[in-house]
Amino acid sequence: MSLNKYELVKQQVSMPSVIGQYGFELNRSGFISCPFHSEKTASMKIYDKSFYCFGCGTGGDVIKFVSLLFRISAPQAVVKLSSDFFLGLKTDTAYDKKNEREYALKKLREEQELKTFRQEYMSKCEEFKKLRKVVKNSKDFIETAKAQARLEYLDYWFSENHWR
Ligand SMILES: [Zn+2]
Repeated sequence: MSLNKYELVKQQVSMPSVIGQYGFELNRSGFISCPFHSEKTASMKIYDKSFYCFGCGTGGDVIKFVSLLFRISAPQAVVKLSSDFFLGLKTDTAYDKKNEREYALKKLREEQELKTFRQEYMSKCEEFKKLRKVVKNSKDFIETAKAQARLEYLDYWFSENHWR
């Protein structure tokens, strides 16, 4: 997948035509109901080349929109847009497959990293609760001081690392 294909698709396919193609209706103020979070009031603004949801903060270009909507990768979204809008882009299959693999690998790494982070976060939460009990109930001065110091560190850690 060359950068040119991305640019070509973005150049030729506008955001309003994309939402029309996939069954969304633009209201008079230029908003649609966000497909990426549930809502009653339409809060996704559609621009000529991009979108932005004031409800959940999702935004991007036509390729991002299609890849999120159909849960496909960006290279797949380019192929889909090219075929749905009859752009007739030639797809270099071998090259696309390589990109596809790289994309999948990157996603996998991000997921694993997130999983590890969440495990650490949860275990630090548990530790925090236990230490609070120690500080509250222990009569041992040294044990209490140690727990207090660790609590301060955890406090700092939580302020630097937010749940995601
Ligand atoms: Zn949203």
